[in-house]
Amino acid sequence: MFDKLVLASNNAGKLREFSALLAPLGVTVIAQRELGVGECPEPHATFLENALEKARHASRVTGLPALADDSGLCVAALGGAPGVLSARFAGEPKSDLRNNALLVERLHGIADRRAWFYCVLVLLRHADDPQPIVADGSWYGEVRDRAAGGGGFGYDPHFWLPEHGMTAAEMPAADKNTESHRAQATRLLLARLGSL
Ligand code: IMP
Repeated sequence: MFDKLVLASNNAGKLREFSALLAPLGVTVIAQRELGVGECPEPHATFLENALEKARHASRVTGLPALADDSGLCVAALGGAPGVLSARFAGEPKSDLRNNALLVERLHGIADRRAWFYCVLVLLRHADDPQPIVADGSWYGEVRDRAAGGGGFGYDPHFWLPEHGMTAAEMPAADKNTESHRAQATRLLLARLGSL
């Protein structure tokens, strides 16, 4: 297959996570910053297009296979918003607190609280790869006005999981890491890579 790839992200947590996951396949993961890859714009309306753009950019600059991810929260009653704008829903500078406050405000008086986290991973073997390896995952729940829990990040304190009777921020990290949109997408990616 290949023995190393560039991760199109500068997030240290993601680098650790993907390094551990891909180590059994003999793949070394290198952060894009280490290879001189700058931030890439994410101008698209879909997670898939943004992930593809990031992976292609990193692969083009480095000449290596590249892995990119994109994720966010989609709310049914808001037509899928905040979606690709999840990180900056309430504008710059990024703030989880203001994002969550805006989310609760937008849902004021709306009974339909269905929402899901979505994650897509895109792996390109080279910048002009005509057949990207794509894996995604969705994690379904509801938006609750009242925040609860100190774990996780982002929208987790307001993301209610009815079958667990808790928010994602109240869930033990090991459980979230097994169930989440990211976990589902990652399992799928590994399965796809394993059968190449
Ligand atoms: P990114 O794809 O890692 O940049 O995530 C985009 C944004 O989506 C984050 O800044 C969060 O606002 C939101 N998000 C993605 N995954 C999660 C999650 O597991 N919990 C809470 N918020 C998330």
